Amino acid sequence: MQPPGPGEAKEQETRGRSFSSLLRSSTALGWAAAFLAPAAISSLDALSSRPSYQLAGFLYLLAVSLAAYLGGFAAGLVAAVLSTLGLDFFFTPPRYDFIPANGDQGAGVALFFVVAILISQLFERRRQVQRQAEAASARANRLQAVTARLAEAVTPQQVLDAIVTEGVEAAEARAGAIGLLTADGETIEIVAQRGYERNIFVGWETFPLAGDTPMATAIREDTPFFFSSSAERNAAFPPMAGLGGPSHALAILPLVVEGRAIGGIAFTFPTEIEFDAERRALKATLAQQAAQTIERVRLYEAERALRQRMTFLADASELLGSSLDYEATLAQLARLAVPEMATWCSVDMVGQDGSIQRLAVAHEDPDRVAWAESLGAEYPPDPDQPMGVPNVIRTMTAEFVPEITDELLVEAAQGDERLLEIVRELGLRSAITVPLIARGRALGALSLIRDDTAPRYTELDLDLASELARRAASAVDNAILYREAERRGDASRALAHVDDGVVLLDEEGAVVSVNPAAARILSVDSAAVVGETALGSIGGWSEIEENARPSRGQTRGPVTLPLILSDGTERWVSVSGVDFGDGVVYAFRDETEERLLERTRSDFVATASHELRTPLSAVLGAVKTLQRNDVALNSDDREMLMSMIESEAERLSGIVGQILLTGQLEAGRLPLEHEHFDPVELTKSVVDSAELHLPSGIELRVQAAADVPAVSGDPNQLRQVLANLVDNAIKYSPQGGDVELRLNRNGQFARIEVADRGLGIPLDEQERIFEKFYRLDPALTRGVNGTGLGLYISKELVERMNGRISVDSEPGRGSTFVVEVPLAV
Ligand code: ADP
Repeated sequence: MQPPGPGEAKEQETRGRSFSSLLRSSTALGWAAAFLAPAAISSLDALSSRPSYQLAGFLYLLAVSLAAYLGGFAAGLVAAVLSTLGLDFFFTPPRYDFIPANGDQGAGVALFFVVAILISQLFERRRQVQRQAEAASARANRLQAVTARLAEAVTPQQVLDAIVTEGVEAAEARAGAIGLLTADGETIEIVAQRGYERNIFVGWETFPLAGDTPMATAIREDTPFFFSSSAERNAAFPPMAGLGGPSHALAILPLVVEGRAIGGIAFTFPTEIEFDAERRALKATLAQQAAQTIERVRLYEAERALRQRMTFLADASELLGSSLDYEATLAQLARLAVPEMATWCSVDMVGQDGSIQRLAVAHEDPDRVAWAESLGAEYPPDPDQPMGVPNVIRTMTAEFVPEITDELLVEAAQGDERLLEIVRELGLRSAITVPLIARGRALGALSLIRDDTAPRYTELDLDLASELARRAASAVDNAILYREAERRGDASRALAHVDDGVVLLDEEGAVVSVNPAAARILSVDSAAVVGETALGSIGGWSEIEENARPSRGQTRGPVTLPLILSDGTERWVSVSGVDFGDGVVYAFRDETEERLLERTRSDFVATASHELRTPLSAVLGAVKTLQRNDVALNSDDREMLMSMIESEAERLSGIVGQILLTGQLEAGRLPLEHEHFDPVELTKSVVDSAELHLPSGIELRVQAAADVPAVSGDPNQLRQVLANLVDNAIKYSPQGGDVELRLNRNGQFARIEVADRGLGIPLDEQERIFEKFYRLDPALTRGVNGTGLGLYISKELVERMNGRISVDSEPGRGSTFVVEVPLAV
């Protein structure tokens, strides 16, 4: 029989105190019966004079049976010997000696002894069978208890607890540990342990499957190891020598599910033990149960985690789509991730200036959030940091740290002892940081961190975080675009009413917007050029690009450029540009008018000085001739010189008069009479004066309708206008031809036409000739003098009389100027 091991001793304990105490007391009773019962039966001899030999034999057998039943084989043996001696001495004749009377009696005593021994053995066998049955039933009960506890287990730790607490007795173990293969199948991770001293697994949290350790070998080779002592283990695995305390037995079994090893389980025993087949089988059964439970737990866990992830993603998507206030939404998202997805969740965003700003941080405990926020303010992120959020944003790549090691914390603290102490205290375990990327730009980063109260992150968590970041980034981008569109909408509404042209280009030089003033100034259709490159779609843009483009982040002061636009016209434009980082905005002002005025003004200076110099030199020449004594002048010559002086002086006074009148008109200081007068009469008098010095080849004619009524206005000023028109008609008809003045009524106006057959005026100049100083031929190539003020003065005067003036002309065929003056009422 197997000596009861420590485990079995314990097994007996588990049967309960009453049983063991009963067992102990019955053993004592057995020994008492072994001595006392034969003695008591022997004493019958003293009480009875003729005791029956058979009766005594029967009673002795009962005593032996009682002793064997209660005390076991040894007590039975003692009772048998004592009973044989008692029977022989007291009851077998001749009495009171040990020598039998005859052979039969000797054989009877010997038979009695044999029977007594057999009875003792019989009882002992019965006791043994009963004890084995009880032990087997206790083992079955414990296995049953392990199975029941395993059925309830949902984490590897609970599996181990069930096995070690319930199964430790069945396994006789003191402590146990479960190691599981990680997802990559190359590392064993100790996921649960119980009963060991605290630090035994420090440095052994994970170890390679390929290593020369008992558990790795057991898993790799799918073989259990049973070492009855530490020495035996060290012989098989020399690197393990020196590990652990006093010598003990050790069992390591692979955990196998459907022929595939998923990990291993180790049992450590308090003493050295020989593992017999039954014990091995028991441990194998425990390992098998553990393996199946762990697999079930894993599947359950995977399913639960998947469901949790899907629910989280769905909730997050709903949240992200719910508002355009992305700052608030991201803060809510961070809170949603806590605590199921993360112990800490934070969102950092890239600011306008490229700096990294913490948008939100979430933790279950609001005090911790406040603490983290103040810590964040104290330690603002350094954009050049080699790891963490700045690195993720810079490289646009996720950072996945399944296991935050102390070395990593030391590295992250970058020599700051206080920070290192803080992060160490947080007990951070695992972290994921994913960039928020939209349209090729990192908008920020989302960080998920778990402390040691939560499981490590896996690749699945990284996938989830990446998906979440993708959705969050696209929601943020949409919100930004929407805001931008809103802002642009506001801006373009405002720009639509601005007189200055504004053109906005993106970084690539494509037109983003063109306000109506810019479209007018640059002669473009804004709808057609938006989206196109400015260079390709706006005429003259190369000039702007060359002279007005600001360098990055700079402003360029206004420059005035002549541009040849897409429609071929030339326009003077003052343009300034500002580069605002995402593109360039140009402001335009049309300076064509100012430019032309400036040019005509300088032309005027040249023309006027010429105009003034010519008559002055003529006058001067005539005066000098008259003063000469050496030249004899007859009276005709003198008369001619004198009249020349008079006419040139008149011309001079006319020019000066025009200049003065212009000054008065501009200053609004010209008084106008309002009289009723006959326009026909006035026209005829103008023609009469003109005829006095009419060049040859020109004839003046007046054709007046009969019903031209009186008009209202200033007759002197109208005379000036008509004289000027007639003068021009004569001046600009160098080849001669008739000048016709026609008068008729046109509604509420008297219409006076002055028509010549002279040089004519090109259509596109017909409006400009009424401008101040404007002359068709400032360089006098056509040889006709003038100041460019006559028609300006005429127009101003007519309009002040509430009339109007216009021209109809064809180059080479002559011009007809029309003056309309309101009728007198
Ligand atoms: P100017 O002193 O040059 O005549 P005006 O103001 O009277 O100035 O006329 C402006 C310009 O208009 C002239 O320079 C000329 O080119 C053009 N012009 C005016 N009248 C006629 C005309 N009857 N025929 C052709 N051109 C004319």
